[in-house]
Amino acid sequence: MADAPIQILGAGLTGMSAARHLGGDYEIHERLGHAGGHAITTEHDGFRFDRTGHLLHLRDPEMRSWVQRLVGDDCVMVQRRSRIWSQGVYTRYPYQANTFGLPADIAYECLMGYFEALKNEASTPEPKTFEEFCFKFFGSGFSKHFMIPYNEKLWGIHPRDVTAEWCSRFVPRPKLEDVIAGAVGKNDRELGYNTSFLYPSLGIGALPAAMCKELTGSVRYRSAPKAVDWRKRELVFEDRRVPYQALISTAPLDLLAGLLVDPPAQLSAAAKRLRCNPLYYLDVGLDVPCGVDLHWVYVPEEKYPFYRVGCYSHFSPKMAPAGKANLYVELSSRQKPDMQKLVPEVTKALIEMQIIGRSEDLRFANLERIDHAYVVYDHDYVGAVAAIAPFLEQERIISAGRYGGWNYSSMEDALLFGRDAARKAREWKT
Ligand SMILES: Cc1cc2nc3c(=O)[nH]c(=O)nc-3n(C[C@H](O)[C@H](O)[C@H](O)COP(=O)(O)OP(=O)(O)OC[C@H]3O[C@@H](n4cnc5c(N)ncnc54)[C@H](O)[C@@H]3O)c2cc1C
Repeated sequence: MADAPIQILGAGLTGMSAARHLGGDYEIHERLGHAGGHAITTEHDGFRFDRTGHLLHLRDPEMRSWVQRLVGDDCVMVQRRSRIWSQGVYTRYPYQANTFGLPADIAYECLMGYFEALKNEASTPEPKTFEEFCFKFFGSGFSKHFMIPYNEKLWGIHPRDVTAEWCSRFVPRPKLEDVIAGAVGKNDRELGYNTSFLYPSLGIGALPAAMCKELTGSVRYRSAPKAVDWRKRELVFEDRRVPYQALISTAPLDLLAGLLVDPPAQLSAAAKRLRCNPLYYLDVGLDVPCGVDLHWVYVPEEKYPFYRVGCYSHFSPKMAPAGKANLYVELSSRQKPDMQKLVPEVTKALIEMQIIGRSEDLRFANLERIDHAYVVYDHDYVGAVAAIAPFLEQERIISAGRYGGWNYSSMEDALLFGRDAARKAREWKT
């Protein structure tokens, strides 16, 4: 059988969306034994786990109706219940619009800093770093007590080393009236891009499973090329070479660069400047229901070894056996933790946060790692990506998706990236 003219690397959401939008003439190579990429659900001891919270925020009408058709019959629509845990109290999200409930001196510092920032906003230069963004739009108090410490834990680097570019979509900027209402406990609406979300009742893995069923072309599992011969337009495997007219790669961009045979020196140099952090997190099973009625909690303070805890069984009760609960705990350190030391620390914190009542409630805590988790928008980011992407396109390689395109994006974006990659690849097919 002739090789398909369009070759796809990766059966994550981007790769499968590309395949679906191509309709045919493609072959997917997936290095693992299953589809889904980051959007998978696994089971342990009767508890179901995604790779931390994977919630569907669908804004594009075409993607929304596709996802609804794929998994809509067995999905729950959830209104977000998230909080911040700091200073020993829970306050509403987002922190910058909800000082009500914080100790008075902290709330005062946040509000005064905000008013000062607002007064000076027009005369403060456009922010270049995420730290400057926080100081300009939220002021010194909100920055000190939440924005800087939380984001340092999340990104694994200080916000001064992150550009301001990624944040406009994901960091809510409240209006003055929201800040005032939130200071006196009168906020009557949820803020931010993720106030409600869709969630498959058996976990996010239902989505790639349904996408897989729709595929008409071939998917080769445990198949990854050892090189990409871009001059000859061939994928190089141990035992054969596969020609392509267009290649859609959803492999992480730094890894794709490493596969290119004799790449231009500038491309290799740029690829070395790409930075992406791994993430360690815990899959936690509880023998009791979760003690707080929340979907997830942000934890900015440095004294805790994690920055966010979420509860799968609050997304959908089918994620845990009846009367029990399961959590994800996202760890701040990028180094592999010593579990003997970590688990008692996490247990103590969960008790303090009233998520569990006593240490015996924690049935298990399993350590997981995501190698590529957060692309870092550091000051090399724009230049490095700009030095790679045009060369690849000129050679009919579309590097797409969250890691292929090297960005901070959502599952819906992955579906859109796949669609766009398919359109471009089709144009190149001779
Ligand atoms: C911690 C975390 C939380 C998230 N939470 C949310 C959320 O709540 N909501 C949301 O919308 N999004 C969320 N996301 C984002 C979401 O996971 C991604 O946007 C989406 O899954 C990316 O899909 P992708 O296909 O681009 O990449 P991937 O999922 O990485 O898929 C790429 C595929 O390519 C395969 N592959 C890699 N290299 C090769 C190779 N050389 N050859 C063949 N195959 C290869 C991989 O095995 C993988 O299957 C989150 C991401 C993370 C890391």
